[in-house]
Amino acid sequence: MVVGIPRAMLFYKYEKLWTTFFDEIGVKYVISPETNREIINRGANLAIDESCLPTKILLGHIDYLKDKCDMVFVPRVEFSCGYKMCTKFLSQPDLVKNTFRDDDIKLLFYNVDKNKPHKERKAFYKMGKYLGVKRSQVKYAYIMAKQAQMFYEMFRAQNQQRLLEETSKIKVLVVAHAYNIGDKYVGEPIIKALKNLGCEPIIAEYTNANECIQISCGVSKTLPWAYNRHLLGALEKHYNDVDGVVLLTTFPCGPDSMFNDLIIRKYKKKPIITLTVDTQDGTAGIETRLESFIDILNFKKGGAVQ
Ligand code: SF4
Repeated sequence: MVVGIPRAMLFYKYEKLWTTFFDEIGVKYVISPETNREIINRGANLAIDESCLPTKILLGHIDYLKDKCDMVFVPRVEFSCGYKMCTKFLSQPDLVKNTFRDDDIKLLFYNVDKNKPHKERKAFYKMGKYLGVKRSQVKYAYIMAKQAQMFYEMFRAQNQQRLLEETSKIKVLVVAHAYNIGDKYVGEPIIKALKNLGCEPIIAEYTNANECIQISCGVSKTLPWAYNRHLLGALEKHYNDVDGVVLLTTFPCGPDSMFNDLIIRKYKKKPIITLTVDTQDGTAGIETRLESFIDILNFKKGGAVQ
């Protein structure tokens, strides 16, 4: 029995949780490779035109996995604290079921509604039962998986905080969803370009989510989406410590278009640039814009323009 895990969307938030769980219950899994041109093309062919890039990427990864495993893992996570997830996440199981309805593909559903107590644990029990694993083994695996995820997030946040305090480079806060910043095709070229330009990218997503969501309440009372609240709180927390802000988004994202507008209206003291990534090839245009942006940051800091 091999479970296929698509390297897309929520994988970039819960990789440790899921992989530790499967390791502990002894179920083999295969993770699809880093996003590449072929995966993008597969997803774009399967998705409707209006789909956002991360949805196309997800479908591309599932298409890649469908003949390399016995079942494909399809998560659905609803958030807590009264905040919502983008509808693209909530509809993921139905979208996948419909898109691959003519393929002989088995799906392993993982459905978490964090509004209901213990729902996450129950989702793991359900999955374990489906996979024929003993309840006691699932219970232990879940505890180990939660710990692994918690430590991973904690170390990542601590490392980033240390970097923020110690670096003497130009600091650029990159505000982007986990599945955008973590993706080889979407986020990696931006991070590479910033580093090549001599900057230190600070990743908003790596800041503690619960703390950020709390902080975000002081900035906006109405922003509905939990993941955007996480990013908003990180921006508010780090704004005074960075030299500029990159808003990295994918086309066409409804929540981000509203969110970016809010940021640009509220945060006016430092330079902000919005970069939108689509399915097209090449990042030359983005790199040129980043170069000009970093020139401005250097100039403002009193350094030499490159
Ligand atoms: S928030 Fe935007 S990019 Fe993310 S899934 Fe929703 S529409 Fe797509």
